[in-house]
Amino acid sequence: MKAKKELVGIVGAGPSGMIAALEARKRGAEVFLFDSNPRVGRKLLATGAGRCNLSNAGATAERYYCDDADGLGKALSIFGPKQLVKYFEELGIFTFSTPDGWYYPLTESASNVVDILEAHLRASKVCLCMGVKICGLSLEESGFCLSEANIRRVYHVNRVIIATGGKASPASGSDGQMFTVLEKLGHQVLPVLPALAPVLTEVKPIKGLRGVRLDAGVSLFANNKLLQSTFGNIIFTEWGVNGPGVMDLSYLVSLNSHCYQEIEIDFLGAGEQLLRKLLEDARFKRLPAAVVFESVLPARLVRLFMERVGLAGDVLLQDVSRGTVETLLRHLRHFRIAVRGTRSFDHSQLSIGGIPLQQVNPLNMESRLIRGLHFAGEVLNVAGPCGGYNLQWAFTSGYLAGKGMDG
Ligand SMILES: Cc1cc2nc3c(=O)[nH]c(=O)nc-3n(C[C@H](O)[C@H](O)[C@H](O)COP(=O)(O)OP(=O)(O)OC[C@H]3O[C@@H](n4cnc5c(N)ncnc54)[C@H](O)[C@@H]3O)c2cc1C
Repeated sequence: MKAKKELVGIVGAGPSGMIAALEARKRGAEVFLFDSNPRVGRKLLATGAGRCNLSNAGATAERYYCDDADGLGKALSIFGPKQLVKYFEELGIFTFSTPDGWYYPLTESASNVVDILEAHLRASKVCLCMGVKICGLSLEESGFCLSEANIRRVYHVNRVIIATGGKASPASGSDGQMFTVLEKLGHQVLPVLPALAPVLTEVKPIKGLRGVRLDAGVSLFANNKLLQSTFGNIIFTEWGVNGPGVMDLSYLVSLNSHCYQEIEIDFLGAGEQLLRKLLEDARFKRLPAAVVFESVLPARLVRLFMERVGLAGDVLLQDVSRGTVETLLRHLRHFRIAVRGTRSFDHSQLSIGGIPLQQVNPLNMESRLIRGLHFAGEVLNVAGPCGGYNLQWAFTSGYLAGKGMDG
């Protein structure tokens, strides 16, 4: 007699769910891929501003926030950036990387990536159950029962992969409802908080900087203790600071909301030596001080900081004492602003929290508490910085969960 095919239900057709589905099919399982959206890969379409920054050459465990660095390291050693690039090539998604290791598809189109993944899902006969929101998950003798709202329809499967994402950007479908269902099943769910979010600050000190954008060093302090420093692009807004330079620190802002927090911005960064040389060269050339500073900094920023140290906008550099120049440089290196929190999930690219990785076997993403229940992607407590790390994690965990349908 022919052995009965294993039925696998995958909830969530984001990057992690799609790869999991392809891998599970390769192992002969009958795969049902559910998503509340009418089409697969809704959030993936928005990634990298539509260009899909899908991995990073530096994606090693140390670069992520996670409750199980060893487990994460094991998972990434099996399916890291190199394996992902090769895997995608086999699907017809060719990639290139920027000098700092950020991977993009050759077409620089997230939409093309979604089209290609969807075509492979259809070609490999994954059953696409789109427009289906799963609201219930219960254990049965031979597996699980997945149900729609009001138990309108139920699906009996042998194994389940939960790939429902976190709570970031809920308009794309990842509203976090599945966490309540998982808690009811007995899983620990860590508080889910915004990560890769813009940072809210006191607004008075940044008045006048709205729209100013530049690369800068940013350090986060909680109760005056340095938590982490980054370097990246920042943009001043009417409510605080946006851009990768602060977003990379935002998970710490979320985790330390009970503390008094400040960010310190170093506007000079690596440009300080260059600026010092320019100032020396221009000292007796009858040039306005502002013009010399504007060689490396945005004009509005220069004006604001000159005002702070009592300098008129048109003062000549030769009329400014070296001591005042040093004071100005110090202000530009150590600009501190009080932090008020992060913007909401609606404005976040990621969340932290959810299912602890410690409760999962990192080799096949199976729950250590409930056999046959697997997880993939952002639903797990793993968060990387901007730069392709989070899609890499979604693909890594999706690949391993799907491969885990081996038995
Ligand atoms: C604007 C933006 C830009 C980003 N850019 C990048 C980038 O360039 N590089 C990078 O690495 N990361 C980026 N990210 C993060 C990245 O998109 C996520 O890490 C990744 O999408 C997570 O994949 P996932 O499969 O775990 O979850 P998701 O992509 O969130 O997919 C989960 C899916 O599950 C479905 N779902 C949820 N609950 C249910 C339910 N109960 N029933 C049925 N379906 C359900 C949702 O509709 C959704 O389609 C970005 C995020 C945003 C918001």
